[in-house]
Amino acid sequence: MVETVKNYINGQFVPSKSTQTTDVINPATMELLCHTPTGHEDDLNAAVEAAAAAFPAWRDTPAVDRVQYFFNFKTILEKHYEELATLVVKEHGKTYKEALGDVRRAIQMVETAIGLPALLRGEYKDNVARNIDSMAQRRPLGVFACIAPFNFPAMVPYWFFPFAVAAGNTYIIKPSELVPLTQVRMFELIHEAGFPKGVINMVHGGKDTGNQILTHPGIKGISFVGSTPVAKHIYSTGTAHGKRVQALGGAKNCLVILPDASMEKSVQAMVESCYGCAGERCLAGSVLVGVGPAYNKMKELAVKYASEIVVGDGMDPKTTMGPVVTAAAKQRILDDINKAVEEGAELLLDGRPLASMKGNFIGPTIFDHVKPDSIIATKEIFGPVIGLMQVKDLDEAIAMINSSNYGNTASLFTSNGAAVRHFIQNVQPSMVGINLGVPAPMSIFGFGGSKDSFFGDIKGQIESIDFFTEKHISMIRWFSEDLTDVSSPHWST
Ligand code: NAD
Repeated sequence: MVETVKNYINGQFVPSKSTQTTDVINPATMELLCHTPTGHEDDLNAAVEAAAAAFPAWRDTPAVDRVQYFFNFKTILEKHYEELATLVVKEHGKTYKEALGDVRRAIQMVETAIGLPALLRGEYKDNVARNIDSMAQRRPLGVFACIAPFNFPAMVPYWFFPFAVAAGNTYIIKPSELVPLTQVRMFELIHEAGFPKGVINMVHGGKDTGNQILTHPGIKGISFVGSTPVAKHIYSTGTAHGKRVQALGGAKNCLVILPDASMEKSVQAMVESCYGCAGERCLAGSVLVGVGPAYNKMKELAVKYASEIVVGDGMDPKTTMGPVVTAAAKQRILDDINKAVEEGAELLLDGRPLASMKGNFIGPTIFDHVKPDSIIATKEIFGPVIGLMQVKDLDEAIAMINSSNYGNTASLFTSNGAAVRHFIQNVQPSMVGINLGVPAPMSIFGFGGSKDSFFGDIKGQIESIDFFTEKHISMIRWFSEDLTDVSSPHWST
């Protein structure tokens, strides 16, 4: 019997009221792993009720006491580090090494949230007017929720929930229906860490549960990560219902190389960026841009390194690239490759033959002579497919990057400091890499892009402390006559 995963509400694992489910299939072996309930409105209502009931006591628990649960949780997560990574490989398909990275990032968020008491300190200014002092306290707001994508089953909800909860809010996570198992195990560990009932809850479901979160009157704010069309919908609907919303969307990332770059190491990093996690990363490179004479060498090395990639089950130590997540994703990517061929892009490396293997496999694919308005240059393919372009100078590369609707990340490979400065100053994507193909900001910085890659104003990770608190301002006046009263004889009688 294949299990249907349970929700975690008010400190207990409980079955969903939904009778419909989504199959969760190991994308390498095609084994049916479990079913995800498609969600029932009573499930979310129960989670919001539990989170709302837990909020007053959790808010009033001193921050230094709240983070003790996270200290405990961090130790427990370390004990289960490899086990969690194995689950990520099974349900998502990435390699074991990549899965370790996914879990490690989640743990780092917990570590950073442990330091929150220092950051929750407020502000105070005496004498803002005569005899009046003013203070700002950071206050939690209530129940927050996260709607997560499939591509980092462990990490993404952790960009938000540890900061929200350490700040005194209560929380609901809706994992992606495609990869629920990692979060189910992480919730068993949350339970073991002893967090009070109702403080952290999990509700499974798909689009309907996502939409219920958007309009539920008991939810104060939503952190969403996923594709751009859904991010736009989440932002507009959530804010129209009076909620705080931060919505991280899709991407189309360019990696640029100048002739003075350290060629081998740079192209290795570029290729790793494109094909790591089978291209299913919001920071994955998808267009490689060679400036002037850098182009020919970049092309030669990119084809060489991409051809050396070993495609297979992520649990096999020889594998350097796993499958894509679902059969539907595989078909969509194959359709995009066919469309690019029809558009006339030159196929240098064809990943389609590997699609005949059992599993959701596609080999590394490279197109050359990609036109700026073609599918390969503009669409987020979210698979192991990239395009190569040549431009005459750095400004042409920057103009190409800035012409995209997306603005998640861009990287430059060079040894020229002035070029680096010019690039950083002029590119619009808000996460920039210099001689790095995947410049994912660490937990102690914000995480999020610009333009159609991000809707909202406060980003994830540590920066989200502003999202999860409001500054409560008090103006305080004491009358000087009262001071006289303190020393007056009537106090002692
Ligand atoms: P998706 O948009 O299909 O789904 C994301 C989540 O939204 C899932 O939990 C899903 O159940 C829910 N959902 C889907 N449609 C909905 C709707 N109409 N209303 C409410 N909820 C809905 O994304 P995905 O395929 O799971 O993830 C891949 C995408 O995520 C890519 O576009 C990738 O670039 C993006 N992503 C972005 C970042 C970032 O930092 N910007 C990070 C990771 C992934």
